[in-house]
Amino acid sequence: MSTESSLPPRPGPSADDLVALDGMRFTNRFTAELPGDPDSANGVRQVLGAASSPVRPTPVSAPRLLAWSPEVADQLGLSEDVVRSAAFAEVFGGNRLPAGAEPYAACYGGHQFGNWAGQLGDGRAIALGEVLDRHGVHQTLQLKGAGPTPYSRGADGRAVLRSSIREYLCSEAMHHLGIATTRALCLVATGDDVVRDVLYDGHPRPEPGAVVCRVAPSFLRFGTFQLPASRQDRVLLRRLVEFTLRNDFPHLVALGSFEEQVGALLAEVCARSTALVVDWMRVGFVHGVLNTDNLSILGLTLDYGPYGWLENFDPGWTPNTTDAQGRRYRYGNQPEIVHWNLWQLANALVGLVEDPQPLQAALDAYSGCYQEQYHAMMAARLGWGSFAAGDEERLAELFAVLTSAEIDQVLFFRDLARVPVNDVAARPDEELLGPLREIWYEPADAAGAAGEAMVRWLRSWAVRVGVGGLAEDERRQIMDGLNPRFVLRNYLAQEAIDAAEAGDLSLLSELADVLRHPYDEQPGRERFAARRPEWARHRVGCSMLSCSS
Ligand code: AMP
Ligand code: MG
Repeated sequence: MSTESSLPPRPGPSADDLVALDGMRFTNRFTAELPGDPDSANGVRQVLGAASSPVRPTPVSAPRLLAWSPEVADQLGLSEDVVRSAAFAEVFGGNRLPAGAEPYAACYGGHQFGNWAGQLGDGRAIALGEVLDRHGVHQTLQLKGAGPTPYSRGADGRAVLRSSIREYLCSEAMHHLGIATTRALCLVATGDDVVRDVLYDGHPRPEPGAVVCRVAPSFLRFGTFQLPASRQDRVLLRRLVEFTLRNDFPHLVALGSFEEQVGALLAEVCARSTALVVDWMRVGFVHGVLNTDNLSILGLTLDYGPYGWLENFDPGWTPNTTDAQGRRYRYGNQPEIVHWNLWQLANALVGLVEDPQPLQAALDAYSGCYQEQYHAMMAARLGWGSFAAGDEERLAELFAVLTSAEIDQVLFFRDLARVPVNDVAARPDEELLGPLREIWYEPADAAGAAGEAMVRWLRSWAVRVGVGGLAEDERRQIMDGLNPRFVLRNYLAQEAIDAAEAGDLSLLSELADVLRHPYDEQPGRERFAARRPEWARHRVGCSMLSCSS
């Protein structure tokens, strides 16, 4: 990533910059191929029979580029000069439409915290349209925080800088971890304040506003299909499914009847969602708001709100204070919640088929597929090769050890590869615990019962590694490729936000750069891999987040 701190000031938009931005190849399939809202007034309403409503971004006072992803810019054919031009900030702050753009807000519904919420829609995200990237892939460019839409439901359509930094950093970090996600092209400060009550406790305050340009081949959500189904609008539902099959799952179109295609679609969405949640569980990502409107039909990580990264291994942890009561979206519940959400998607699709059996079969396969992939992932990251008899018990013992004290799970899994495995019977405990010295939030625990339990487990782990038969080098390579050294720890994101709010973008820039190589050791950057400092334990933004963003 690059930030504005290294940018020379530039005068107003030059003709060349405008030409480059206007040269983006808009295709706009979503608005061209699906029915739109005939009403073009920007007022809150129920939108029936349409997939989207036309709406333009609301201009902002002083758009200023704060950060951008060189990889995404390159993918879109935008050179560094263009990105750094004043025209770029004007376009991606929402003040100017590039030629060919057909801006819209999408219509969708969803279950929020388990309850059907009816119409939701893009309340503060406005898509500029779809463009063709360098590889000929259609990408929707979407400005999050670009102002009110027909779906804003009384809210302001804006986003604050802190949540925009979090979305920007995390979506790019997720991509570099090799996990399916929407991307972020850039982060633009608006120059306007936005008022938010961070913890909903009667203390609203003005905060700087920002816009993130999100990029994905599709932003369709489970809730996109649920809404017309809930309204018995089979015509729109069918058109949405056909659109999705044709554009995002073209390999399924050849399968035969429409009915067969629908079954295959659900099966593939189940498979992609399974792979996604296995990845989240591996790296310790907690989405925080797995409502059906936040689940992507492509299996991408979508809508970065009050997400968090697991620090000490606590399956019951959720970063979302709005969810503190029921903890529906806690780390350990994510696989089940994704399954629940897939049920809701199937419930929406069932109206399109005569025989629900294939849909039922896809849902029934989920738990087994998840278990199998989760086990394979765990066996690989622990250096065992593949999952074998007895491993279920070994895993259960590991989780008991990891929850017996406050143990940093990122450091544990990463540093496990450095624990010796040969002649373990002859080695003293300290040799086994040595590489893991940083994992303990309370260092005294290492010398107590938890330390003893850890040593016992490490000894059986090492024997199991021997049975797996991987050569030392290969084993470490596999383990290091699955257990990141660097993740977007909650407190690191907050430090970058604090600095950016004070006008210093250097930490944001460096953190984004560190997260581009999460599986590599990065000498000199050890501080970005350190466990959470004590000051961050109860700090808002580090351990507690709300939907207020
Ligand atoms: P989320 O919980 O972020 O997935 O948002 C749920 C719904 O609320 C979506 O329809 C959002 O577009 C909408 N929403 C969230 N924040 C705002 C805002 N500041 N202004 C308008 N709509 C919003
Ligand atoms: Mg959402």
